[in-house]
Amino acid sequence: MKIIEDIIEMQRYVTQLRWEGKIIGFVPTMGALHKGHLSLMEHAKNESDHVVVSIFVNPAQFGPKEDYKEYPRDMEGDTEKIAYVGVDTLFTPSVSAIYPEGYRTYIEVKDLSDVMCGRARPGHLRGVATVVLKLFNIVKPHKAFFGQKDFQQTVIIKKMVEDLNSDVDVVVLPTVREEDGLAMSSRNQYLGPEERKSATVLYRSLEEARLLFNKGERSAELLRYTIIKIFKSEPSVLLEYVAIVNPKTLEEVKEAEEGTVIALAARIGKTRLIDNIVL
Ligand code: AMP
Repeated sequence: MKIIEDIIEMQRYVTQLRWEGKIIGFVPTMGALHKGHLSLMEHAKNESDHVVVSIFVNPAQFGPKEDYKEYPRDMEGDTEKIAYVGVDTLFTPSVSAIYPEGYRTYIEVKDLSDVMCGRARPGHLRGVATVVLKLFNIVKPHKAFFGQKDFQQTVIIKKMVEDLNSDVDVVVLPTVREEDGLAMSSRNQYLGPEERKSATVLYRSLEEARLLFNKGERSAELLRYTIIKIFKSEPSVLLEYVAIVNPKTLEEVKEAEEGTVIALAARIGKTRLIDNIVL
């Protein structure tokens, strides 16, 4: 596996690969890799000739009081995992190369960035859109692979690609879960044993809402109420929001229908977790 840190070297290398007619698949990550990340890489391998994975903990998407410093980093372990999956190139730019002195340009996807996670984390989605566009400009992929787990992020990236005419095919893949349903996340490492048990309430509540929907319930208010009720049985977990939304516009719906997304965020101690389902 080739490891590239330098931006210009990455651009030159991928330009050469494109010239040779290779289809480039790209998986951007922040490292601390788990099976969710690895499944994106496996898909990328199946759908492209050359897979590039980036590891970059993006300071622009963390608020001043958030966990940028503590965010888990394990370059050695990650490199082993990525090589094992059979990724072709690992791209690991430095913060000072991505955001050099005097950096000024940010991408804002209006409205879609202000709701849901954008409310609790102002600037977060602007940071995500900015770094993803920068990485697209560096890696020049034909296809880029993202997880459904970060649903709002996928909506914003798709909209950015459409609005800015980026020539990248955005592929969204299902959330990979632990056996008990908890969505895999690098932040699950923060949870103590008791917190880890309580954390299943995110998925349990979403599945209960799905069950109701499958039985014919369509009222978003009732589905939301069901989720809130289940969270009340886990007082150590603080529900931040439940959004029942149109999957493209992120507008709240009154009546759920097939394709409606239920997304939520919750805090367990200092750890903030998100999850969602598509009805
Ligand atoms: P992150 O390193 O958290 O920025 O995530 C990098 C990519 O992996 C994003 O596209 C995430 O949506 C995706 N991802 C994270 N967790 C999961 C998961 N449990 N299942 C599928 N994809 C995931």
